[in-house]
Amino acid sequence: MTQQNVVVSDTKSGINRAVTVAQKPPTVPGGYISYPRSRRVLKNLENNGEQRINAWVDSMRASSPTHAKSNPSLAEEQYKSWILRHPSALDMFEQIMDASKGKQIVMFLDYDGTLSPIVDDPERAFMSNSMRKTVRKLARCFPTAIVTGRCRDKVYNFVRLAELYYAGSHGMDIKGPSKNSKFFKGKKAEEVLFQPASEFLPMIDEVYQQLVEKTKSTPGASVENNKFCVSVHFRCVDEKKWGELAQHVKSVLKEYPKLRLTQGRKVLEIRPTIKWDKGKALEFLLASLGFANCAEVFPIYIGDDKTDEDAFKKLRDRGQGFGILVSKFPKDTSASYSLQEPNEASDGLSSAFGGVETS
Ligand SMILES: [Mg+2]
Repeated sequence: MTQQNVVVSDTKSGINRAVTVAQKPPTVPGGYISYPRSRRVLKNLENNGEQRINAWVDSMRASSPTHAKSNPSLAEEQYKSWILRHPSALDMFEQIMDASKGKQIVMFLDYDGTLSPIVDDPERAFMSNSMRKTVRKLARCFPTAIVTGRCRDKVYNFVRLAELYYAGSHGMDIKGPSKNSKFFKGKKAEEVLFQPASEFLPMIDEVYQQLVEKTKSTPGASVENNKFCVSVHFRCVDEKKWGELAQHVKSVLKEYPKLRLTQGRKVLEIRPTIKWDKGKALEFLLASLGFANCAEVFPIYIGDDKTDEDAFKKLRDRGQGFGILVSKFPKDTSASYSLQEPNEASDGLSSAFGGVETS
């Protein structure tokens, strides 16, 4: 038997939590982290506050690994096994192009950790000029959208390309390009505007203020108002303080049953309980582009985070296109392919799609 992280759903608070439980050895070679559900475990933990916080911290560790593996050769074996299942998108470029023949590629790009590196200060997560050039090139070839947990205005200020679609706040704030798009089949692209959680705006502002106050005592913690969701970043928080931070967030959230907590890399995210995520945003954007029930579309989604999994899964469910996970570590994912880091994505996509553009 091995120890494994399990995500459980707290129906009262709407919080998804991970706990460590004894599991049968994973069937996937390499045994990387996976997230099956377990109601029995949830029940056992229901009345134990301290264990619940420990579960949060375990989940934070699972989403945000901070230590190199204690056994490098085992880690290498696990990576080799994982990369066989999720080969580099650059190595598979020919096959990808073959699969997309005769279909319209639509590009979806996450921002943090995909177009920009994860840096200590989230306000300074700038994308490089070469990455901007690559994205501009992509947008000339295909309809292209940025799908991010960040506030839409903020990510626009980072990217500064008017020809893109932007889906901010995990897809809860979608807007078409301000520059008209040659790919758009329906009404004018700039008229696309969708905000399914607008009634939550006052509540999000309130929670933001409270989280700023509560987390002041945790050195390194920062709270970001992303309009339809709030992010509590712990990139600069000592791991010993993660439990304390989780406790602060929990104490605020318990007063707001209409909000739920999800996790990303070094970030806790508080968002409305509405059934909307990056996968739904992808679907909405495809429909806006006129590809709702179209077999001739080939969506490609590139992301690095747990919240991108909703989009990867949506592509699997549709049986169209594929997801690319940006990660140096083996992760349980619905993405088909992988890239190691944002720079690899920039260099590789630029040379690969440069050829597509000229042809
Ligand atoms: Mg990301």
